[in-house]
Amino acid sequence: MESIAEKAFKILTKYPLCSRCLGRLFAGLGSGIGNKLRGESLKSLLTMQADASIRMGDNSAYEIIRVLATSGWGPASQLASALRIPFEEKNCLICMNKFTDENIEILAKKVAEAAKEYEFRSFLVGAKVPSYVKMLEEYIYSEYSLPFAESIKKDIDREVGKKLEELLGREVDFNNPEMRIIVDIFTGNVEIKPSPLLIRGYYLKHEVGIPQTPWLCRKCWGAGCPKCNYKGRDYDYSVSEFIGLPAVKLSGAISYEFHAAGREDLDAYVKGEGRPFIVELKEPKRRMIDFKEYSDLVAEYSGGKIEVKELKYASRSDVRLLKTYLEKAKKKYLVIVTFESSINDESIRNLENYFTDRIIDQRTPLRVLSRRADKIRKKRIYKLSAKKIDDFTLSLEMLTDAGLYVKELIHGDSGRTRPSISEFLGIAPKNIKLIILEVVEGKMQQS
Ligand SMILES: [Zn+2]
Ligand SMILES: [Zn+2]
Repeated sequence: MESIAEKAFKILTKYPLCSRCLGRLFAGLGSGIGNKLRGESLKSLLTMQADASIRMGDNSAYEIIRVLATSGWGPASQLASALRIPFEEKNCLICMNKFTDENIEILAKKVAEAAKEYEFRSFLVGAKVPSYVKMLEEYIYSEYSLPFAESIKKDIDREVGKKLEELLGREVDFNNPEMRIIVDIFTGNVEIKPSPLLIRGYYLKHEVGIPQTPWLCRKCWGAGCPKCNYKGRDYDYSVSEFIGLPAVKLSGAISYEFHAAGREDLDAYVKGEGRPFIVELKEPKRRMIDFKEYSDLVAEYSGGKIEVKELKYASRSDVRLLKTYLEKAKKKYLVIVTFESSINDESIRNLENYFTDRIIDQRTPLRVLSRRADKIRKKRIYKLSAKKIDDFTLSLEMLTDAGLYVKELIHGDSGRTRPSISEFLGIAPKNIKLIILEVVEGKMQQS
């Protein structure tokens, strides 16, 4: 069987490689050696064997010295000069002599300088490698069948990572790094990308007429026109801005994205437990947020219209949970309904009995039909309690499946929602005021 040294020599005959790039072709052998030492060991062994042969008068070993000197191996160059063996030193064919301890240090220092103004506890390095280098590596692996080889990318990732751990006193994290670092040892460029910071909580909406996200003017779509007073939008504020912008300010992020579990009607309050949300801050400079300061700032910025509470840091998987959250959730509503004619006390008790634990067949409401598929949904009312405010007005508190259209449950939507409260009472509602008390059950799980 061919020895590793013989194989290394064959490779060097065709491809001049620096010690590190040679050693990396055998990276899986003898853990803890390190690729540079692997390559140096092989080159040292070949030099010593050749020297011994030459001393025994075997001049064919001159070729070994010439090949090693060509690959930039100092001890072989010295020997070649002494023996007057002509050679021309070449750059490493894989790394162009760029993958050196000095260059690793230079890259790491550049990163440390660029990352100075960012707060982060962990990081991950990703090296950029030109595609011709990757192709050449693959080619050499298969030409010499090198099952223990490692890619230069992995090697740079690890070496720069080790240097940075030392320099920054922070750790590499492969799963959830707070900072992503891109290095290019071929050009000397570095790039840093702070991971988004996610904060979750529940919001309360104490005033109606605030959309959850900014609504663009439907005439000009944001460009500005007389209809919207050249503001490009229908409402001056939104829940997402009241919550997002203070977080941007505190974290020094460049922008934010707002995620929430569903949305309430423009004219609905959010009370009680509140609605779950996550604010995603892009490229934040600071990650240690004082949640008390944040919630105070939201209250101040929104003039008390929006309140946030139970703030915690969140992960990417929490965002996924948030999206599926509503499917399982139940909601509690308070609805104030004024009817066109008076209500008698007995029918109130019947109403409670009838609608508690009742399945409602609800065909897609007319008002959302242009945006949603027309189909019948079955939703359950778990509990309904009614209180008389005056002869014409009822206060209804109910716990229902999320996704039940409550206004349609009251007025019946021309028979599309059945049974309905107006159908049951035999009187039509004049005014419906809807308040979400809380979103209950399926409270966001801890990740
Ligand atoms: Zn190299
Ligand atoms: Zn407009």
